[in-house]
Amino acid sequence: MTRFDLLIKGGEVVDPGGGHEGRLDIAIDGDRIAAVDAAIPADTAARVIDAEGQYVTPGLVDLHTHVFHKATYWGIDPDPVASSSGATTWNDAGSAGALNLPGLREFVVDRSRVRITAFLNISNIGLVGENHECANLAYLDVDLFRRLADRNRDLIRGVKVRMGTPTVGANGLEPLRRARRAAEECELPLMVHIAFGPPEVDEVLALMRPGDILTHCFTGLSMKIVDDDGRLRDFAKRAWDAGVVMDIGHGTGSFSYATAEALMAAGRRPDVISTDLHQLSVQGPAFDLPTCMSKFLHLGMPLRDVVAASTARPAELLGIDREVGTLRPGSCADVALFRLLNGTFPLYDIFGEMREASRLLVNTLTVIGGKPVAPVPPGPPAPWAEPPIWPDLQKEFADRLAAMREHGHTPAAMRAAAETGATGRDREQRPASDPPAARPPRR
Ligand SMILES: [Zn+2]
Repeated sequence: MTRFDLLIKGGEVVDPGGGHEGRLDIAIDGDRIAAVDAAIPADTAARVIDAEGQYVTPGLVDLHTHVFHKATYWGIDPDPVASSSGATTWNDAGSAGALNLPGLREFVVDRSRVRITAFLNISNIGLVGENHECANLAYLDVDLFRRLADRNRDLIRGVKVRMGTPTVGANGLEPLRRARRAAEECELPLMVHIAFGPPEVDEVLALMRPGDILTHCFTGLSMKIVDDDGRLRDFAKRAWDAGVVMDIGHGTGSFSYATAEALMAAGRRPDVISTDLHQLSVQGPAFDLPTCMSKFLHLGMPLRDVVAASTARPAELLGIDREVGTLRPGSCADVALFRLLNGTFPLYDIFGEMREASRLLVNTLTVIGGKPVAPVPPGPPAPWAEPPIWPDLQKEFADRLAAMREHGHTPAAMRAAAETGATGRDREQRPASDPPAARPPRR
């Protein structure tokens, strides 16, 4: 007699949150993990998935994403990316503010296949536009923030503020002070974005507390936490050691090999690996969470730590670690299967710097709430994110992206190349020109 709806059999389980590791079977009953064991008989399940030769992890938890599509500048539909990446929980990082949070819930959260949580923007207009959301302090209403956060406690898991000249204009640290107040009044963690100062990153970190999240922590832009020789700056070391959480937030402006390699060489590892997936970064070089995770495998982080930084740790920060980011029996049956391809794969940072990685993590199946997800084709980019009409700085970035694509740097192209034995390197040698080095993009 069958006891389980689904059995994922014979895979190599990597589940730091649930404490499982090694060749194990995962049994699912309804929308819950029912059992994790060494040899669960195939005839106990209505459906069996053979995971031999593959890695099995909890569904990935992406701490920094933008999913408020068709209503904000950066938002994308998460379901197509989820179906090909294993990312089953998406935390929207500030796309919505108090004035449009009801829209995020009704039009996106309630209609998406993936699980969505949100950090509410301290600016009540959220990220409707590309920038400037904190340039008018009239939008930064802490009382209204608290009312909306209190009425949406199931959804709102933190406060988001973007610090840097393009977002705060002439308002300096005041947006961060208001976000700090909102975080304290609501007892929520605070996520702070850094990019181009002023204000400067030392002033920003001085207002952050243990448990707060610095996103874009490995940026190479002016608010970076290393000096020009790659040494971790003293104030950043103190904040990190005191418990400020360091989150990657790759995006199109924030992942720099120069910064990452300097910090990793000094023994520093990011607390969280996240994508900052949005209308631009989904077109590369971030692409999706497994691509970002592969960059950290290349930088020398063990697979188990990479998985912890994209499952258990972000789930804990969101306060949902009993439900997701784990394969513990009783938790949500969100599961991801991966092949770890061997070959030579070009992986780029946001400056167009390339590293030849020897391993690429490729998602083969995504299970949400006990149900395998069929592939969902991606929709077209928003009109404002089509390369020909990107603003000047973004156009430079679009040109670099086009060159990267020509070099075979898309997850699909690399997967196909590895499977036919033509590695990323073979593809790499064909085009005549290198991707142009260029000034950093806008964020
Ligand atoms: Zn973001």
